[in-house]
Amino acid sequence: MTCLKPEGIQPAKAGIGELDYNEFSRMQPREPGATPAAARNGGPVKANDVAPDGLYWPKYNIMTPNMRSPDYVQMSTAAAITLGLVPGKMHRCGCTRCLNLLLTYPEGCRANCAYCGLARHREAERDYADRNFIRVDWPAVPMEEVVDIVARDGEASPFHRMCISMITHPNSDEDTVTVLKRWTDRIDPSAIPISILSNPTTMTRGDVARLHDMGSDIFTVALDAATPEIFDRTRGKGVQSPHNWKKYWEILLDAKDIFGSRKFGAHIIVGMGETEWEVLNLVQEIVDLGGHSHMFCFFPEKGSLMDHLPATPRDQWRRVQLARYLIDYCDVRADHMRFDEAGRVIDFGIPSAELDAVIDSGIAFRTSGCPGKFAEDISACDRPYGDSPPSDIASYPFALKDVDIRKVRSQLSMDRPGERYEPGDEFDLFDD
Ligand code: SF4
Repeated sequence: MTCLKPEGIQPAKAGIGELDYNEFSRMQPREPGATPAAARNGGPVKANDVAPDGLYWPKYNIMTPNMRSPDYVQMSTAAAITLGLVPGKMHRCGCTRCLNLLLTYPEGCRANCAYCGLARHREAERDYADRNFIRVDWPAVPMEEVVDIVARDGEASPFHRMCISMITHPNSDEDTVTVLKRWTDRIDPSAIPISILSNPTTMTRGDVARLHDMGSDIFTVALDAATPEIFDRTRGKGVQSPHNWKKYWEILLDAKDIFGSRKFGAHIIVGMGETEWEVLNLVQEIVDLGGHSHMFCFFPEKGSLMDHLPATPRDQWRRVQLARYLIDYCDVRADHMRFDEAGRVIDFGIPSAELDAVIDSGIAFRTSGCPGKFAEDISACDRPYGDSPPSDIASYPFALKDVDIRKVRSQLSMDRPGERYEPGDEFDLFDD
């Protein structure tokens, strides 16, 4: 698609007495509390030292086994269902296309990101392997069992991609290498490409190169915050967390050099206090470097330091989703777009017929992430309901139907004449 010149659209309207975006002053995380010494660093799990015995489903009423990567990894509930390890059904999704593997240790992640369910400040409340993350439980499974199942399924595997999610832990760099080796020893990385969701804080350029040389396809950096101020407030000094914006960018630029164009990217959470102008200029910066942005809609994760704050209003989220898609895949630039005094998009920078075509294809509103085998702009990483409940979907983990497009159009205040969405129109699809 060639996206040429701007044509005006009306900005989405705020609800009565409400902003239609999450502004900076409102999105202040709570202060982390003090953790009793005995609860720190996985103390109870290590003291009880319960031997693991295969799959562990997060339970809060029994002692968590002492599980540790690289022998154990955690995976999303969606991945466990897809692998057939647990029973379950996902609303309007047959399976997930990305096997997300998360490193696990009794000590957990040593960082303290304010929006994250895995953060260190939860030590006293819940053992690491029991913590919710992007709204769901993450069962722990022996790595050997995971590889056995995927290798056995061969070409019939539903997965289009595997992703290793590092966390902030002293062993994370080395264990990522071991997990990767155990995978590539049995599974051809050209059959199921591999992504690395990195932890820049503990990494060097040499680590990035090593992961590339071992067969990883895409390297991503979870900037998460769209500005240095929000980064510092949510995952740096503001919450006694070790991360640093400069270091994250250093590793992102290393990934650009080592992995190359379209093989690196950044995760960004929308709605933590940045303006639409700020986040879309960041998206543009990453595209200009040759990378992609993977967007997440802020959701107040239960137990996190931001669980008292509002989820991103859908109009803000849809504007950013749409604009990000145009920048990432349609050669539209952020500087072709127009913004109001609050930084909201008021003009997407392309003729309305082209904009309509993009909206109606629905791809812009699907979960964004590393591509799978369907198309370059369709993410394998579909993260079902990782940033919203099924009743109010932010990132669609499936292809949108007409009713979904009508709903999105209504959230953008861009209904087609005579095709208005009425709340609940999609509820007929709840038993699909
Ligand atoms: S580094 Fe990642 S896993 Fe750890 S607290 Fe921050 S967002 Fe969560």
